[in-house]
Amino acid sequence: MTRKIIENKAQCKKCQDIIQSKSTIELKRCSCGSIAVDGGLDYIKRLGNLDDIIELTKYEGDEIMAEEKVEYCTCEKLERVYTDMDDFGYWNVCDLCGKIVENTYEYFDELND
Ligand SMILES: [Zn+2]
Ligand SMILES: [Zn+2]
Repeated sequence: MTRKIIENKAQCKKCQDIIQSKSTIELKRCSCGSIAVDGGLDYIKRLGNLDDIIELTKYEGDEIMAEEKVEYCTCEKLERVYTDMDDFGYWNVCDLCGKIVENTYEYFDELND
């Protein structure tokens, strides 16, 4: 399965330029001329010195995959937990492994109502 390209871009290790190809026939070269990107959102094409390329291409679904990486506590017994919070709510964190205890997230709003 080919994943959909959202951003076709790369950075040059030599001149630090970030170059992006936005359409199929738009060839972009970095300022030192070492690398070039092409292909837009249809395919990834790299030209020049491939060793100088830092790949920055983003694919559809990358963000979702990152979210799924959240690891929950799998300890058999919850000995001690502490409370952690962000702007929206709070949750329990296992003191033993330092991971989030699943299904303990509470929104602040629910308390105020
Ligand atoms: Zn360059
Ligand atoms: Zn744990």
